[in-house]
Parts: sequence; structure tokens; C-alpha cells
Amino acid sequence: MADRSLDALLPHVAEMAKTFLAACEKAGISTVVSCTYRTDEEQAALYAQGRTTPGRIVTDARAGQSLHNVRRALDVYPLVNGKLCGNESAEEIALWQKMGALGEAAGFEWAGRWVHFREFPHFQFKG
Ligand SMILES: [Zn+2]
Repeated sequence: MADRSLDALLPHVAEMAKTFLAACEKAGISTVVSCTYRTDEEQAALYAQGRTTPGRIVTDARAGQSLHNVRRALDVYPLVNGKLCGNESAEEIALWQKMGALGEAAGFEWAGRWVHFREFPHFQFKG
């Protein structure tokens, strides 16, 4: 089970995350953090999913390659009517973009802009 606590992040990244989430709240966006720190073993299991184990492919980062493994990334979902926001409708995409911009304003790189393996919930700080 991946860690969901901001305290599992590097201290300065945790501070950025608090600023980011406070900005979301101020903008009227409720959020849920689904993952912060992930061990190399958890990353390896996630990478195997859809490749050598059942399920769909959810990452292209091997163990040690994800910034979750070095406490510099968090996955955050906006809530819509109490449920995690999807990424199908124009309204959903607009909500992600609003949240992505707030994450970027707090200093994060937002994976919602990535062309290869775009991930709306993923925010990271390389430092
Ligand atoms: Zn992530």
C-alpha cells in the first residue's frame, strides 16, 4: 500500500504540497491525495502490472525511476460529487487543468501536460 501522507515527502516538497492543496481548497476544489511515497518494491509491482501481471499498464517508470520513490511526487485527484474526477468530459478536463495550474503555481511539474504517458493526478518536483 502506497503512502498517502504528505509527511512521507521530502520536507520542502511537503511544504509545496500544502501550499498547492490550500490553493485548491481556496479555489473550491476538494482533493484527495492517493499516493506520495512509494517504495522500489511497490514501484516494481506497479511496473509489472499489465506487462507480466494482470491489469492495465499504469506506469512507465521502473523501480527507482519514479519521483515517488525519492519522496518528490504526489498523486492528487479533484473530487466531483464525492467521487474521484474522471478524465472523459470537457468539464472534467477543465477541472484537471484548473488544478494542474495551481500545482504549477506552487512549483510542481504537472504530468497532465506530458505528451508521453500523460498522468493527470501526478505532480512532481525534481529540485
Ligand atoms: Zn504519480
